[in-house]
Amino acid sequence: MVPYVYDFREGRREMADLLGGKGANLAEMTRLGLPVPPGFTVSTDACRAYLATGTEPPGLAAEVSRHLAAVEAAAGRRLGQRDDPLLLSVRSGARFSMPGMMETVLDIGLDDDSVLGLAKASGSDRFAWDSYRRLVQMFGSTVMGVDPALFARALALLKEEREAPDDTHLDANDLARLVETFKGIVLDETGEEFPQSPTDQLRRAILAVFRSWNGERARLYRRREHIGDDLGTAVTVQRMVFGNLGPDSGSGVAFTRDPATGRPGLYGDYLPDAQGEDVVAGIRNAMPLSELEQLDPRSYARLRGHMETLERHYRDLCDIEFTIERGTLWMLQTRVGKRTAEAAFTLAAQLTDEGLITADEALARVDGDGLARLMFPAFDTSAVGEPLAQGVPASPGAAVGAAVFDSAEAVRRAAAGERVVLVRQETTPDDLPGMIAAQAVLTSRGGKTSHAAVVARGMGKVCVCGADGLAVDTGARHFTTRTGAVVEEGTVLSVDGSSGAVYPGAVPLADSAVMRFLETSQRSAGVVTAVARALEHADTLRRLEVRANADTPEDAARARRFGAQGIGLCRTEHMFLGERRKLVERMILARDDAGREQALAALLPLQRQDFTDILEAMDGLPVTIRLLDPPLHEFLPDRTELAVHIAATEARGEQPDPHERELLDAVSRMHEDNPMLGLRGVRLGLVIPGLVAMQVRAVAEAVVARTRAGGTPRAEIMVPLVGAVEELRIERAEVERALAEVSDESGVPVRCPVGTMIELPRAALTAGRIAEEAEFFSFGTNDLTQTTWGFSRDDVEAAFFSAYLDKGVFPVSPFETLDRDGVGRLVRIAVTEGRAARPGLKIGVCGEHGGDPDSVHFFHTAGLDYVSCSPFRVPVARLEAGRAALPGTEGSDSR
Ligand code: PEP
Ligand code: MG
Repeated sequence: MVPYVYDFREGRREMADLLGGKGANLAEMTRLGLPVPPGFTVSTDACRAYLATGTEPPGLAAEVSRHLAAVEAAAGRRLGQRDDPLLLSVRSGARFSMPGMMETVLDIGLDDDSVLGLAKASGSDRFAWDSYRRLVQMFGSTVMGVDPALFARALALLKEEREAPDDTHLDANDLARLVETFKGIVLDETGEEFPQSPTDQLRRAILAVFRSWNGERARLYRRREHIGDDLGTAVTVQRMVFGNLGPDSGSGVAFTRDPATGRPGLYGDYLPDAQGEDVVAGIRNAMPLSELEQLDPRSYARLRGHMETLERHYRDLCDIEFTIERGTLWMLQTRVGKRTAEAAFTLAAQLTDEGLITADEALARVDGDGLARLMFPAFDTSAVGEPLAQGVPASPGAAVGAAVFDSAEAVRRAAAGERVVLVRQETTPDDLPGMIAAQAVLTSRGGKTSHAAVVARGMGKVCVCGADGLAVDTGARHFTTRTGAVVEEGTVLSVDGSSGAVYPGAVPLADSAVMRFLETSQRSAGVVTAVARALEHADTLRRLEVRANADTPEDAARARRFGAQGIGLCRTEHMFLGERRKLVERMILARDDAGREQALAALLPLQRQDFTDILEAMDGLPVTIRLLDPPLHEFLPDRTELAVHIAATEARGEQPDPHERELLDAVSRMHEDNPMLGLRGVRLGLVIPGLVAMQVRAVAEAVVARTRAGGTPRAEIMVPLVGAVEELRIERAEVERALAEVSDESGVPVRCPVGTMIELPRAALTAGRIAEEAEFFSFGTNDLTQTTWGFSRDDVEAAFFSAYLDKGVFPVSPFETLDRDGVGRLVRIAVTEGRAARPGLKIGVCGEHGGDPDSVHFFHTAGLDYVSCSPFRVPVARLEAGRAALPGTEGSDSR
């Protein structure tokens, strides 16, 4: 039988699926010989079994007691031992880090007898009773379901009575009384005495941690981070070591490099005479780790050594948690640390230079989402005065929003479309919904490793922590600055997560350094160089070409600067807006061929000029021009508005404008109940005489003009919304005719490949036939998604997608990330059958998915030749196309 429980000496880093990140890394540190308190891990298998059946998996209890015996032997003490009890921590630890989202129970093993033994053995009554009250509090709420506010209230009352400003002013007698009060609360609330059997405590704590996998916070966090609900958590059980045993003890968290910028050097916080939980919660302001060097040079030197060992072993930035118990250093946790996008790129370059990782590994460690974040604008601080407050820059970026003081208010205002900044003394896991809703998080306590900082960095959300001068008064819904200024709820703030400054009002934004580099190709130092290197390496590896969706010469030029290798989709309808809409209107309203031809003739020179400019911006590179796609009524006024206007005119006894009447007739004639599936795409060309000829003539004449100007125009003509090869055959004949006419007239041979979009299921399923007529395919995955699912893309996202995401119908909108099982299957069929019919057929994608990291990986595996996306996503697509081609990642997604 496969075991459920593994001693730390039995595990390895690679076993994170089974042991969770925490368990696997504790095992790895144990193997490396670092000072890890002995313990064992209960596997995710056990969690899954428990959650599936609701009962403790058979055999688990026996395994736990066997491993417990080993820990007891190593510690030289037993659980529940009256004179010197072994105490245990019981912690969650899933495959992917979910900071603070699940439960922990500390100090397991104390009861009414052993607390006295602990007092004696530790030489501190106060410590023993404080540990016992922590246990009753944590166990009571986490395991027995008592409302934690009841404990907090009892503690606050006692402090008031004793006139104690904080917990440290309560003595052993106070704490012993508090334990009695807490036990009374437990009995009142649950009808059950606080359990006096330490093995019972352990068993129940393990199961409670399993259950916390399905707690509300944990589920919300997983949905946001796209972590599967079925993974389950492991539970580590470990001998407690104590940082709260006096001034020669303490707890800290540390990073081997700066997780915000990637700069080398030890970073972290240390809190003397405190438990680890106190540091992460940001309850007291910690001191910078460097001060530990003076306080306890021996432990500091050891810590440095261990951290170097870890960084070299993991070949990456590590974060750790440690405790010093009366001068002895213990390592309690390590993992490859979360980092900002800036730090990810910088570190990847640094570690490559240090010879720790290869260029391929460096590329694997950065991603397109991070790059997109670095392209966001930053504040232009040249124009602003003094900041309101200055804190720790915990997660970079620039955000503007109205100050709100609790999570619920943040959610409420954000749902109403307002941008908000969540201001808290410190955040707790209960603030998660508000953090998600907010543009930025601002706290007055805690440092780079506080809950707010860790969670915000993970989300890529702007965060400034420990803004010391701020006094946050949640009840009064305002904060006071160092200078005494009072800032009420609703006041607009600008939060700079890169510098830690908070400004009043909305500070204007300036381009990011990475964006300037992409625009100019000029490298500056730091992260820009790191980004440049990652992109260059991606470009050498990738098999997919990257093109852009662009309809204007400006967009085309920008896309080219960003590295686009052509235009994959030029939507011609965007050229018929503004002033030109009138010309389209005339074409639609024309009563006869002559009228229509006149209108088309007026449009022709305008379109020709558009194409000429775009072909010039993309000279030498392919430009795929799509023939008109949307239903024509999109160019006409709104039917209801017109009807109301005419009715109102008549009601006033006046004569309506005859042109308006004519328009209303036309609009009514063309009205469609479901225009997405109506007269659009190739169908327009087949029923409106002259439309295709005009558009193709404009393209061809632009090609002639560019050729005569000495350029190398490479126009391609693309037909939208084809469902049957017959449609394409007819349309293509007309295209070829128009091309030939212009070639003859001009004497310049115009050769444009003619291809089609594949954006209907029928097109994908008959791709072999369609390829007989198409010289290239381009997947229109926007339409292909809506027609495959039967979703009207403009209607469904607001109507019910959030419910679908909640219910887990899909983990992410299929309009954002390609639905591999459904739409992806159609893509694969079309690729295979299209290329079977026409070997070497060029195939791309131009739906929004072309710039989505996960989808880019799919298109790579599906064997496409290029992806095309909006100009701003071009660098992202280049990077991800390179990552998709990394050896060993073929066929996998970007996660
Ligand atoms: C598509 O359907 O994916 C596409 C690119 O076309 P449009 O979004 O213009 O319908
Ligand atoms: Mg489309």
